[in-house]
Amino acid sequence: MAMPQQQHYQGDDGWAKIADYLDAISASNILLVTGNNMYRASGVEQALEPVLRKRKVTHLTCFHANPRVEDVNQLLDQIDNKESHQAIIAVGGGSVIDVAKLLKAFRANSLNLVEHLGYKDEQELHPADLKLIAAPSTAGSGSEATRFAVVYKDKEKFSIEHDRLLPDFSVVIPSLLASVPSHVAASSGMDALCQGIESYWSIHSTEQSRELAAQAIRLAWASIEEAVNQRTTQSLNNMAQASHLAGRAINITRTTAPHAVSYPLTSYFGITHGHAVGILTAQFLRYNAAVTKDDCLDSRGTEWVVDRLDEITAMLGADTIDEAARALTKKLKSIGLETSFSQLGIRTEQDIQIVIQHGFDPGRVRNNPRSINEVSLKKLIT
Ligand SMILES: [Zn+2]
Repeated sequence: MAMPQQQHYQGDDGWAKIADYLDAISASNILLVTGNNMYRASGVEQALEPVLRKRKVTHLTCFHANPRVEDVNQLLDQIDNKESHQAIIAVGGGSVIDVAKLLKAFRANSLNLVEHLGYKDEQELHPADLKLIAAPSTAGSGSEATRFAVVYKDKEKFSIEHDRLLPDFSVVIPSLLASVPSHVAASSGMDALCQGIESYWSIHSTEQSRELAAQAIRLAWASIEEAVNQRTTQSLNNMAQASHLAGRAINITRTTAPHAVSYPLTSYFGITHGHAVGILTAQFLRYNAAVTKDDCLDSRGTEWVVDRLDEITAMLGADTIDEAARALTKKLKSIGLETSFSQLGIRTEQDIQIVIQHGFDPGRVRNNPRSINEVSLKKLIT
């Protein structure tokens, strides 16, 4: 099945491109979704003013990172169902873009979000007929390039997906990235890097997805430190591009075990998403490299998996997998992120059990080249 096409633009004049796009689709009535803090602070309001002039705008604000079902329903209640909107513009981090996707999915829908989570069947979704424009303010999730949206219900993570949730127009404006706090830049950048790595070793990888993922890994690996610590224009441009490429790669393959295991670390222990994924990916590099015939999940075989891991090793400038894992840990440190779970509050047997119980999203664990069970997972996180 052919992936729906997306228009994409990267450049600091992206705002004008959004205006052109809205003109082209004759959008006069618009939903605007933004994060809570960044809107005024980073000059977005000013930049959007000429874009939104002469159009009717309903502005919805997301107050929480990692959106919950209640947050989405509250925003849906703020939309006047008698109005017809032609477009929804999301400006913000991955969570904000995910919320915009969820609004498109459940706007004027007979099925509500909670009911849908019970079905988990793409057929049940009927996304509203409006164009989705996504402008990410962090270089990380690549949500502007995927058909997935993450939402939490009672601390459990769910992924909603539909081909028509892929944004119609993704606009990456690198200058937007300059104003995010360092910790956010570090964690988001790690997410982009690791999404590239996970996509590259995914059992669903294709030649095309590996090409996208490899570019993302190389760019992010070379630029993440400078982008977090110095915010140079070139490094921010590179991270913006890496994040988008990794998003396109996981739109084909999905993510794997580090992502599956990361979600309880975020929802129960408050570790930011990319940070949790970064620590786990270092562990899973070693774990996956020890794949055997008996626990290999990739139908292309163990040798094939090991060859791909060798390629990842080279992309991280290392000679052995152990060196690559250590280099990744060092990279976490160099951008100001803690490198062990015990320092982040996961210490007791009970803490570890929470992660094990909630870290087994079967779909994602099964994408991993080497199978994992409770025993192997416990070893990885202690
Ligand atoms: Zn991620």
